[in-house]
Amino acid sequence: MGLRPNLLTRRTAGVATSTLALLLSTAAVGVVPAASAFSAAPAGVCAEPADAHADARVAKGGHAKLDPNHLTAKQVRDREADLAAAQRERANFRTGAVTPLATVTIPVVVHVIQENSTRAGGNIPDSLITQQISVLNQAYAGSTGGAATAFSFQLSKINRVTNPSWYPIVQGSSAERSMKTSLRTGGKNTLNMYLGELSDGLLGWATFPKRTLDKMDGVVVLNESLPGGSATNYNQGDTGTHEIGHWLNLYHTFQGGCSGSGDSVSDTPAEASPAYECPTGRDTCSTTGKDPITNFMDYTYDSCMYQFTAGQASRMLTAWNAYRAA
Ligand SMILES: [Zn+2]
Repeated sequence: MGLRPNLLTRRTAGVATSTLALLLSTAAVGVVPAASAFSAAPAGVCAEPADAHADARVAKGGHAKLDPNHLTAKQVRDREADLAAAQRERANFRTGAVTPLATVTIPVVVHVIQENSTRAGGNIPDSLITQQISVLNQAYAGSTGGAATAFSFQLSKINRVTNPSWYPIVQGSSAERSMKTSLRTGGKNTLNMYLGELSDGLLGWATFPKRTLDKMDGVVVLNESLPGGSATNYNQGDTGTHEIGHWLNLYHTFQGGCSGSGDSVSDTPAEASPAYECPTGRDTCSTTGKDPITNFMDYTYDSCMYQFTAGQASRMLTAWNAYRAA
């Protein structure tokens, strides 16, 4: 989604330069920047190694140069080829052992990263987390107005960790790797969600599925973006919905712009660039219909986004059976 302008102001001075270098040298992470910054990003600034497995959400006002989540055309081609290969692998070696699933309940382990015991230090109440799970279940059931997906979510554990060296969670840092290496639990089907204050005003980031599970797998979400949190315009829980969409193999609706295969989903109209806030009548690609600003995989306000499409639901289930099913 987007960056938080207030936090951006607070953090940019000391962090921006070093973090940019960090991001550009880090293969696996995507971050979503804000509108102005996004359009100003020099060509190639988002370039990552082909093995891009992560994505992020930035709020309006965020810095586009921090958008590793926005994949290059080659990265998308590589990911699509990998999905096809994963499907073939399943067909060749696992048929008979595993029946493709039609419905999936995802166990969720929530790691609450804290600097100390105060709310400002990351100590959010359990009620926000249970409300987040409820928001996820409504969104993925289609009960907010979109297509129903195969997925539901079940909270299996809240793991509270006080560790100032992991706070805030800095995207692409060695501290993030240390945190995940120490804390990640469960198999490929287990969603590990890390909550905390985040670097650079980010709302969240996520890894895409891979054929081989690694410790970086999971989603990182701004703690105050949970329902009832303090992140104005981004506090209804849709950052979690968006990041988990990436974890289930969805791209942004604006991936690829107006041309080519876009987000690799046929029923999401192409979009030239991210939409922010909640624009009226936005139509940035002439041939494909109005921009999908109400889609969870755009960057609009939580109050503006409420749906996945049937095509996205299908893509997520295909990816689940290729990558994450037992
Ligand atoms: Zn994203």
